[in-house]
Amino acid sequence: MPFDYDDQNIFAKILRGEIPNDTVLETEHSLAFRDIQPQAPVHVLVIPKGPYVSYDHFAQEATEAELVDYVRAIGEVCRMEGVEEDGFRLISNAGRNGVQEVPHLHVHILAGRPLGRMLA
Ligand code: C5P
Repeated sequence: MPFDYDDQNIFAKILRGEIPNDTVLETEHSLAFRDIQPQAPVHVLVIPKGPYVSYDHFAQEATEAELVDYVRAIGEVCRMEGVEEDGFRLISNAGRNGVQEVPHLHVHILAGRPLGRMLA
């Protein structure tokens, strides 16, 4: 299935500076910012700067530099937010069944309270 990127999605607008965001970390290929509707005391979204819809799209088409930068950015935010000791959860919703609201790859970092055993 070809990946069809909509450059009018909200995160594309954030990356272009058209919508403000509460930045936590910016690297060469990635941006991390606080979710506007936090579901936990720590709720940070990490996105690649490139036009990727989903994890699958990113894994198939990103350069190695983008892949390494993104994985490391997620780890760096975890360190910066101090969530390693008590624990955290990473979530990336994709597509209709994943109930993905914004069609630009993002990983949610959730922490700061017990998150329960449910995966969904
Ligand atoms: O994974 P999903 O696509 O459902 O999540 C999108 C997330 O983006 C939501 O948690 C929403 O609160 C967040 N969001 C944001 N800033 C915006 C628009 C959406 O943090 N301007």
